[in-house]
Amino acid sequence: MFPDRVVIATRNPGKVREILRICADWPVAWVTFQDASWPDVEETGASYRENALLKARAAAEAVGVAGLADDSGIEVDLLDGGPGLRSARFAGEGASDEENLQLLIERVRASPPPARTARYRCVALLAMPAGEDVWDEETCEGSLILEPRGTGGFGYDPIFLPWGETKTMAELSPSEKDLISHRGKAFRALGAALRGI
Ligand code: IMP
Repeated sequence: MFPDRVVIATRNPGKVREILRICADWPVAWVTFQDASWPDVEETGASYRENALLKARAAAEAVGVAGLADDSGIEVDLLDGGPGLRSARFAGEGASDEENLQLLIERVRASPPPARTARYRCVALLAMPAGEDVWDEETCEGSLILEPRGTGGFGYDPIFLPWGETKTMAELSPSEKDLISHRGKAFRALGAALRGI
């Protein structure tokens, strides 16, 4: 069952844009950071799911409606799965997407292309006002290139080449990205769970 109103618990415009697109057929009224405010939460969880729950609950309690959160990151095999949970602040607290991306390029530059495997991971979680939550976790496998290409998406997309694609995630159209992305898969599965499928 879908709740009537849902607050999207992120101030990342790239995430909001993608979530609204992927969940366009959800029968809910959306609230975003442009309509409401809630306190910042420290992402102290030991997993994507724990961080998603912290974010969803904080927004849900402040706004008084169900809270929808995305916790995601990029896991690079050469970096033992890092930056992972720290993807948004890889180059330091408050770092820009561009600074994070440049640091990642430097960290993998010395290794040959076949070694530069990576994956995006996303937990999509809906926290209901009554206390229960529904969630799903998905990945998108790929590899990293050293010369950024494309202007779509956000974050590390210009250097992420999904498996089987010749275009980077930032060169794909929005609907092409949603079809294969960690976020597309996780939010579609969450929608199916809410529909009771
Ligand atoms: P958080 O979930 O807010 O902690 O941050 C997730 C971070 O992971 C983003 O700020 C990006 O750096 C990275 N990330 C997650 N999903 C994507 C994506 O679809 N494209 C590019 N970068 C992503």
